[in-house]
Amino acid sequence: MDRKNRVVIIGSGLGGLECGFVLAKKGFDVAILEHDSHPGGCLRTFRRGNAIFDTGFHYVGGLREGESLHDFFRYFGLLDLPWRQLDEACFDEVVIGDRRFAFATGHDRFVDTLAKEFPHERENLQRYAAFLKQVGVHMLDSFLPREATDFYTTSLFARSAYEFLNETIGDPLLRKVLSGTSLKMELNADTLPLYSFAQINNSYIQSAWRLQGGGSQIAERLVSGIRAMGGVVRTGATVTRMFEEDERIKWVEVNGEERLPVDWVISSAHPASTLALIPDSQCLRRIYRKRIQSLPNTFGLFTANIRLKPDKIPYLNWNLHVHRSDADLWRVDTGQVQSVLVHYACPQPGEQYATGIDMLTPMRWIDVQSWADKPMGKRGEDYVEFKNRRAEECLRLVESQIPGIRDAVDHIYTSTPLSYKHYTLMAEGSAYGIRKDYNNPMGTVLTPRTPIPNLLLTGQNLNLHGILGVSMTSIFTLAELVGMETLVKEFFKAGREGTNPID
Ligand SMILES: Cc1cc2nc3c(=O)[nH]c(=O)nc-3n(C[C@H](O)[C@H](O)[C@H](O)COP(=O)(O)OP(=O)(O)OC[C@H]3O[C@@H](n4cnc5c(N)ncnc54)[C@H](O)[C@@H]3O)c2cc1C
Repeated sequence: MDRKNRVVIIGSGLGGLECGFVLAKKGFDVAILEHDSHPGGCLRTFRRGNAIFDTGFHYVGGLREGESLHDFFRYFGLLDLPWRQLDEACFDEVVIGDRRFAFATGHDRFVDTLAKEFPHERENLQRYAAFLKQVGVHMLDSFLPREATDFYTTSLFARSAYEFLNETIGDPLLRKVLSGTSLKMELNADTLPLYSFAQINNSYIQSAWRLQGGGSQIAERLVSGIRAMGGVVRTGATVTRMFEEDERIKWVEVNGEERLPVDWVISSAHPASTLALIPDSQCLRRIYRKRIQSLPNTFGLFTANIRLKPDKIPYLNWNLHVHRSDADLWRVDTGQVQSVLVHYACPQPGEQYATGIDMLTPMRWIDVQSWADKPMGKRGEDYVEFKNRRAEECLRLVESQIPGIRDAVDHIYTSTPLSYKHYTLMAEGSAYGIRKDYNNPMGTVLTPRTPIPNLLLTGQNLNLHGILGVSMTSIFTLAELVGMETLVKEFFKAGREGTNPID
């Protein structure tokens, strides 16, 4: 074994597993160390009776050939999982007060459907959809050398998503509708870069998919692949410290006792938590640590997983995004529930009734911080009451849209940012990691490199979050070890019209 190839990866979320998969394939000696008892990070799934619930995954966009996620999932062997496409006529339904608006699959159909409700905005909608499509088409540009294009980093990460929406769309209600499916990112008028808004929304307009049986299958498939190629994935293995010698990480400490020698470390843990693992580094200047530690994180999410009584609620093959009519979607107030994403877990094929429904709404660390020092399950009655109240608020907001839901509830399981912190160690239980800020793209969009040459970062904190964003970020991280050109050739064999960076 070439000893230069020993790579320890901290964390078995999507980012860690994707990096481990590629490196194992390339002959590196890979060990993935996961703090939790199961691999997957945000991709964990749990079962209660006959209901299966996802923790941090509900749907993805762009799985068809030529679409954003297809090439990544083809490479990782994930395309033949039991994906279920959401209805093309309506994959997301936005409910504002008593009005309902459908998001249809495909850019033209998307425009036509909304233009029926907003005929005076047809041209603006066309401009909006064409822009999103363009961002998707140019996705591969982000893997080109920096000097070859400034389309992404300098232009779109430095532009405000909120301003783009205001400049492109005249009707305030339509602006709200177009913002209405965006619990999959933190809408923040003062910070959200246009790149995040456009790339993510575009992939869902291409095509939207749920995974029958839950997101943990993605993790399980990757873990099997890594193990089959000789890699190691260990759970219950928390990296508690790293030791630096001669300006390189030499050892990684596991669970406070065992030491593993390393040539490379890739951390998918939060960058601030990663730096805290090397308290006495010669390479990390105080100013760098301070900068990383002071970066704000996005909000977390409160989830109420509802196990339903049998044969009560018909399965909906689309998501509902329900908002109070007075909700300000770009300045989220978590003091009370303003918006709820309702996701139906796929039942068995042919089954027409739903077994489980998730209701998600933003929740901040500050909302739960007072219970943070208490261990899980022992946070007291007031915490339980707080969660029950929040679940009730969600239910109240959505019940007019789902007839019979209240009577159909068999049991409600709840989770908060404290739960995410417990399972994934994510700082402040944030849903999407470090908040990218268009006012400061250079400071908030991180590169994989750190001042320690053999310590790399990956995962949702760096660039873009979500399944697509983390997959893109894995490429940036892997490029440091195997070269971008090799990766682009292998991942994007077909290239895309107008964007074949290999040629
Ligand atoms: C509620 C929720 C819903 C979401 N829904 C969607 C969706 O529908 N579609 C979508 O595309 N995206 C969704 N996302 C986002 C998506 O799940 C994440 O962006 C992505 O899975 C993050 O992957 P990651 O590898 O960066 O991080 P994580 O999944 O957080 O993985 C990091 C891993 O590192 C481990 N770790 C941390 N520190 C240590 C340590 N010291 N030692 C060992 N292990 C450590 C953690 O335990 C964790 O397993 C959702 C997120 C949330 C929270």
